[in-house]
Amino acid sequence: MPVRYYDWIAHHSRRTPDKTAVLDLASGRRFTYFEFNDRIARLATHLRDALKVSRGDRVAVLALNTTDTLEVQFACGRLGAVFLPLNTRLTVPELQFIASDASPKVMIYDTDLAETALSVATLCNVASALLLGPGGSYEAGIAAGKPLARAEDVTLDDISTIMYTSGTTGHPKGAIITHGMTFWNCVNLGGPAYINPSTVLLTVLPLFHTGGLNCYTNPALHAGGTVLIMRAFDPGQTLQLIGDPAQGINVFFGVPAIYQFMAQHPAFATTDLSRLIIGGVGGAPMPVPMLKAWEARGVALQQGYGMTETSPSVLVLDREDAARKAGSAGKPVLHTEVRIVRPDGSDADIGELGELWVRGPNVTPGYWNRPEANKSSFTDGWLHTGDATRVDEQGFYYIVDRWKDMYISGGENVYPAEVENVLHQLGAIAEAAVIGIPDAQWGEVGMAIVAVKPGQKLSETDVMTHCAANLARFKCPRQVRFVDALPRNATGKIHKPTLRKEFSVTSEVDKAKA
Ligand code: ATP
Ligand code: MG
Repeated sequence: MPVRYYDWIAHHSRRTPDKTAVLDLASGRRFTYFEFNDRIARLATHLRDALKVSRGDRVAVLALNTTDTLEVQFACGRLGAVFLPLNTRLTVPELQFIASDASPKVMIYDTDLAETALSVATLCNVASALLLGPGGSYEAGIAAGKPLARAEDVTLDDISTIMYTSGTTGHPKGAIITHGMTFWNCVNLGGPAYINPSTVLLTVLPLFHTGGLNCYTNPALHAGGTVLIMRAFDPGQTLQLIGDPAQGINVFFGVPAIYQFMAQHPAFATTDLSRLIIGGVGGAPMPVPMLKAWEARGVALQQGYGMTETSPSVLVLDREDAARKAGSAGKPVLHTEVRIVRPDGSDADIGELGELWVRGPNVTPGYWNRPEANKSSFTDGWLHTGDATRVDEQGFYYIVDRWKDMYISGGENVYPAEVENVLHQLGAIAEAAVIGIPDAQWGEVGMAIVAVKPGQKLSETDVMTHCAANLARFKCPRQVRFVDALPRNATGKIHKPTLRKEFSVTSEVDKAKA
């Protein structure tokens, strides 16, 4: 018998009705579990009766972070409908691509994104639209809807969400997320991330990304904790909230860029960070010097590795190992198997680099409308992550870089993340990225693209000298470019395709001139 989907919010509204479930920081709205559950139940009725949403229909949300987005997720669960969170940083043509792919029946949007949302809704024939915020049709629908008396019969194998990947390496792909995947992620992360009913989580990452939604928003709500939602990340406000004893925030999660911007904020040195039990980090390589900057402030950031397709957690470094094993993404979480595989499909030895493959109940059954990717990304239920990884004698995993970002210089593989780590040792560097560019002699050579901290100085020679002292010759970048800031996608990851497009062309021009 398939296991039934279990509604956590309904559960906690019975057990702890008066406890705060969510706080929407921008509007100041705070909902207890009873209130949150009631709003979800009313929204579900409105979606079903007024907007004719039924099982399997997609419901899109295009909004900056708000607790309303979470209500849509849970209301969809009760109807057996599919939650479709959309990336707010995308343009109309990019969203049109996604909306045509996933064909939502309803578009739920906020005032700031009204023009974009309505253009996409018109272009993609979306049947109805609901405006969030005071006086909007979303609130009117909740006020009008009677609480849904009986949820649909939904199982853990049913689709809960279509979540598009970050688009770091190309076009985003719609990963199919089942209720079971989300549930197992809550189980897998709960222990190592210390998520429990006492959790007070501050969420700053976008809820349309697995990092914002599942690290650790869904696990915190699954456990009956409290979640504070920030509309959009602001380093000063984040530090102020974490330092405020009245908020009681004890769990936080960010991608490396989030921690970097906080560490560069003037308030970083004086903020009381002592209440943080867990500061989780993942989503991109975390430079070790950045880990050290947080360690110096008494916070051992807990590295983890995951991806949209695995909902997301695969590896987590225990808090106790964070300082000792800085640079490792940890060990596999419960109920998740991993392998490191050679290009010929055999298992790599300890210490040998290979591609990480993942299997388990948190792994996607496939991509929405992508038969080719579904063929090439799986072998016997194992998902190919595309990430170059090695494991040490004690079973700690190291995500070295994406295979696609690796370049070959004079026959030697270079993993940019390793070079970036060394660049970050230079205190004047605010941001750094390394890409491989074509080279007549070596095939490819590295180019470092760096942004210098305001008021600080750094020359090409400084960078070259530092690299020469700390890296093998073939790993040392041959060119350095200085920029004000690096291009990043909506999740804060450095967008290397943009850098390659911009700087590989420049290097060809340079060569022609030489
Ligand atoms: P796309 O698949 O669209 O190109 P993406 O891979 O960035 O985008 P996500 O699912 O958000 O989309 O990110 C997962 C990827 O992030 C992983 O495959 C890995 O490359 C990277 N990543 C996650 N955690 C870590 C980590 N701790 N260290 C290094 N890289 C990480
Ligand atoms: Mg990916």
